[in-house]
Amino acid sequence: MRIFKFGGASVKDADGIKNVFSVLEKVGHEDTLLVISAMGKTTNALELVIKHYFEKSGELNSSLQDVRKYHNQILLDLFDDEEHDVFYAVNSHFADLEYFIRSNKSPNYNFVYDQVVSFGEIVSTTIVSHYFNHAGLKNNWIDVRNFIKTDATYRDAEVNWEKTQQLISKGVKKKALNITQGFLGSDENNFTTTLGREGSDYTAAIFAYCLNAESVTIWKDVPGVMNADPRVFENAILLNQISYREAIELAFYGATVIHPKTLQPLQKKEIPLHVKSFINPLLPGTSVSKGKDLEPQAPCYIVKRDQLLISLSSIDFSFIMEENISEIFALFHQYKMKVSLIQNSAISFSVSVEDKFGNFNELKAILSKKFKVSYNENVSLYTIRHFNKEAAEMVEKGKTVLLKQISRETMQIVTKE
Ligand code: ASP
Ligand code: MG
Repeated sequence: MRIFKFGGASVKDADGIKNVFSVLEKVGHEDTLLVISAMGKTTNALELVIKHYFEKSGELNSSLQDVRKYHNQILLDLFDDEEHDVFYAVNSHFADLEYFIRSNKSPNYNFVYDQVVSFGEIVSTTIVSHYFNHAGLKNNWIDVRNFIKTDATYRDAEVNWEKTQQLISKGVKKKALNITQGFLGSDENNFTTTLGREGSDYTAAIFAYCLNAESVTIWKDVPGVMNADPRVFENAILLNQISYREAIELAFYGATVIHPKTLQPLQKKEIPLHVKSFINPLLPGTSVSKGKDLEPQAPCYIVKRDQLLISLSSIDFSFIMEENISEIFALFHQYKMKVSLIQNSAISFSVSVEDKFGNFNELKAILSKKFKVSYNENVSLYTIRHFNKEAAEMVEKGKTVLLKQISRETMQIVTKE
């Protein structure tokens, strides 16, 4: 079986959905599972709904209607007959969402978040599946929450591989065209969970692993994995072939073409990953597979914005040693701050972190009891893999460098723009 992942940009409007259909006509659709994200920027739009809900804002209803109208327009563009079942199906999903919002009593933001944003994927796959059937391409719509089981860490759920493996092996129809949602799972009590923003790539990898798939293809609006984000760097080039290791490194440092968790399950079973353009589906794109000799020849540039650079120094000039460091890391873990870079000296310790859950103020109060805490907000972390002198100079030009770290293959710079 092949696993195809189509992200939000590929299904952002009726033409996009028709294009996905034509991609399948060109590359085949037998024995294939499609993992599809929410349409366009729907996840962001639903995040706004959640914000209004918690702020008890008067704009709650209008933000919800925006999401509804957006999907309705896509339906009108795809189907001539307004009596088609798909209108009822989509309406009933929105009725469920509205019911949840009206009746929910849970004050748990992360729980509510997952119950609400999941409608993006549920609605998008409902539309795509009905449209394909309507256009003559028979398919099975699958609710991914019956297959991917997770713990109850809402917004960042951990997969229960054993249960997931059992359910997928037993329940996914081979030979057919299956359509399911990216990003979602469900916990023990069958509440919806999500795997982290942009998590649909990971969903594709989970299915690939459990089905021993022949390959995974991530269809993108770029030609493949580039050595740099073409929106940030001029002269970005396509990497035709890279190793799992290189892809993991690039994704870890923040290259957004592949979600960082995606590679590990694929690498374990040596399932090749292709990153291809949904605009030119017959071009080769990038292949990620096993092999030491697949190191890119050109430097690769990755930028992570919106980082926090935190420096801790001991108040009494005592050394920052193993004991302190392990305590500091335990706190970062507890407060869900993702550490992207570490540097330490005798009495000070600096880290560049991502505060996805907005926990820094709370953490700062705790750290300040033991350390002098200084920090810079909104800094950028540039990583250059396979760096050389010109590459480093180009990145540093015109920026204030707050911290620099160089290892054999990788150079990292934290800057204020
Ligand atoms: N729709 C989700 C998001 O925008 C998941 C994904 O697209 O991969 O983060
Ligand atoms: Mg997306």
